[in-house]
Amino acid sequence: MIDQYALFGSPIKHSQSPKIHQLFAQQTQQAMQYNAQLVAAVDFKSAANIFFAKGGRGLNCTIPLKELAWAYADKLTPRAELSKSVNTLVLQRDGCILGDNTDGAGLVTDLINNHGIQLKHKKILILGAGGASRGIIGVLQDQVPLSVTVANRTVQKALILASEFAHKGRVTGCAYADLQEQSFDLILNATSLSLSDKLPPLTKGLLATQGSCYDLVYADKATAFVRWSQKQQAVNSLDGLGMLVEQAAQAFFIWRGIRPDTAPLMQILESERHRQ
Ligand code: NAP
Repeated sequence: MIDQYALFGSPIKHSQSPKIHQLFAQQTQQAMQYNAQLVAAVDFKSAANIFFAKGGRGLNCTIPLKELAWAYADKLTPRAELSKSVNTLVLQRDGCILGDNTDGAGLVTDLINNHGIQLKHKKILILGAGGASRGIIGVLQDQVPLSVTVANRTVQKALILASEFAHKGRVTGCAYADLQEQSFDLILNATSLSLSDKLPPLTKGLLATQGSCYDLVYADKATAFVRWSQKQQAVNSLDGLGMLVEQAAQAFFIWRGIRPDTAPLMQILESERHRQ
């Protein structure tokens, strides 16, 4: 039987992941199938058990399953353990299921390799303290920024996140109101607000001169945050399509041991959305 992989999540209707993995498989000549499956949180454990019992080799997990996937894994990579969130599960030779989180590595690869945005000694602001923030903070800290600040509507969540990652570098949690009079070299929007074309409360001067902005959400049109970034005259006003492709490439490598070339795929996806 051809090797089976799948994406579990809800919703998954508009997911680009099956297309991305199909193109990676073609490019690297891997015989594999990757399907998207609508799975609600209450059904996750049984759906994952059935998938692996039928010989499935690996899963991607998206909203709202990343914390459940973390709990499901028999073993975790250090970055997944710290983030308490898993987007990639792989069946290992000994029968154990390993959980990893490739979101942070995908983001950092897109920032540094694809867009030349350096993070060393930079002041980074993350908007939002949900699962996506959890998945990226530690990997951002590995790039030795000057500081990481996490601002969130529910301040308590930002404070908890900061305390969990404090051993890796300078990180502070705060409310949006506490950001006044501050400026940052890189602002990452890890809230889900762009999905409803809304913005967190952002003040003028928040982005330093020569700074860049990155929305983890991706869309066919410029998101509200990307439009805000353009108004601030950011050097880069990016959305999360590159992160999506790069986190998929990292998952593909974990599953197949081969690194696909992401550049041709990015070109295809970018040209498709410009046609929308
Ligand atoms: P989540 O756990 O549900 O967290 C949502 C975040 O948005 C929280 O910080 C929440 O604040 C904030 N938020 C929601 N509504 C708000 C409002 N009205 N005002 C202010 N803040 C609000 O979601 P997640 O898993 O972190 O995902 C966030 C986004 O990242 C998603 O839209 C997802 O598409 C995107 N993402 C993209 C990639 C990629 O590969 N490009 C990967 C992962 C995630 P509270 O804590 O106060 O509720």
